[in-house]
Amino acid sequence: MKLPFAESWKIKMVEPIRKSTREEREQWLKEAHYNVFQLKSEQVYIDLLTDSGTGAMSDRQWAAMMLGDESYAGATSFYRFEHMVQTIFGMPYVIPTHQGRAAENVLFSLLVKEGHVVPGNAHFDTTKGHIEARKAKAIDVTCDEAHNTQLEVPFKGNVSLEKLEQVLDENKGKVPFMVLTVTNNTVGGQPVSMANIKATCRLCHRYGVPVVMDSARFAENAYFIKTREEGYADKTIKEIALEMFAEADAATMSAKKDAVVNMGGFIATRHKEWYDGAKGFCIPFEGYVTYGGLNGRDLNAIAQGLDENTEFDMLDTRIQQVRHLAARLDEYGIPYQRPAGGHAIFVDADKVLTHVPKEEFPAQTLTCELYLEAGVRACEIGYMLADRDPVTRENRFGGLDLLRLAIPRRVYTNNHMDVIAAALKNVYDRREQVTRGVAIEWEAPLMRHFTVQLKRL
Ligand SMILES: *Cc1c(COP(=O)(O)O)cnc(C)c1O
Repeated sequence: MKLPFAESWKIKMVEPIRKSTREEREQWLKEAHYNVFQLKSEQVYIDLLTDSGTGAMSDRQWAAMMLGDESYAGATSFYRFEHMVQTIFGMPYVIPTHQGRAAENVLFSLLVKEGHVVPGNAHFDTTKGHIEARKAKAIDVTCDEAHNTQLEVPFKGNVSLEKLEQVLDENKGKVPFMVLTVTNNTVGGQPVSMANIKATCRLCHRYGVPVVMDSARFAENAYFIKTREEGYADKTIKEIALEMFAEADAATMSAKKDAVVNMGGFIATRHKEWYDGAKGFCIPFEGYVTYGGLNGRDLNAIAQGLDENTEFDMLDTRIQQVRHLAARLDEYGIPYQRPAGGHAIFVDADKVLTHVPKEEFPAQTLTCELYLEAGVRACEIGYMLADRDPVTRENRFGGLDLLRLAIPRRVYTNNHMDVIAAALKNVYDRREQVTRGVAIEWEAPLMRHFTVQLKRL
């Protein structure tokens, strides 16, 4: 008999979690203005809000933390961290930052000016925020396949080279760089193929435009290249990662994702001018360039996390768990962005709550329903997150309206996945009764989804 799949780790420490009653959850959600970001974590049973900074560190990472060097400048922890980033990313210049958006803030402060245009395969929300806050424009050039959730293609995160070329053609002299996000978070944690990464870099370089890789989930992307793209089955994840970055000019990284730490980020680049320029923004925003807002122990944990999470077994365990959840949803007929992504399942809320008009935010409504059903906290990646057009101030209803079930790394078991799937099935079974959604009572001018206050209609 073929042995079944099992995790490539065992558990050394546990954290108790608590169930609640439906009455409690009704009350808590009302107090949270129907925005799950406003819930207290103790009001949540299974927390799928994000896979960012929520992973379980390994015993080796905790051990590395004890060896953290807390010297202000030139700490051994920095050099260990720098060496690991250089080895995996293949770029010589490394600046630590306190998280991914801080890396964007530091680098974009140097590169993005008013009137600029920055194409990308579905910019992450903070990435877009940092571009738009500088009065520049972010243009999505993701391939069209990404917008059909039921289409089963292996590299749905790919860049449309036609769309990219058009943006480059129409904006000569106005494009400071292109953002290539791996995996493509916004369209469902979908990977970008090695062929597409290379073609994108070459096209940009032909126009004299550099490429910045938003690499939060680069290791998961490398896993998909290894398992789906011809010619990579026998390469290691580290070899594939190095090849992915080989033609890029820089990378920004949220270490809270694929470095499996609770806080941290960095910039890596092969350009000395960018490094020298960015240092000038790192010091006032983040701190001196050998700590960048991080403790020495954090830098050690990132170095260890990068090393172990670029090993195949670790990634295989993770992706298989996401696939386990997807298989349950398939059983129940619940539509999600296919195929299952790297870090999350993105349920197609438009296809579930078909009676809720888009003006009433179906995915946000589904987030509320799932929480009320079982205390499962998911996250809206849809019309609320899409925010308003910076010029017209109209809601942006053009994209997908998804409910994201983000799976923290090494935290939950497949039993938890089964609970999540069953809860979603119960909501799905009574979808016809959900005819009204939510309305905005208060919102912030930028990145409103974190703090928006809603009412149930
Ligand atoms: C999380 C994330 C960021 C921002 O990183 P933080 O560490 O949350 O600041 C940027 N890009 C992508 C693709 C991300 O997933």
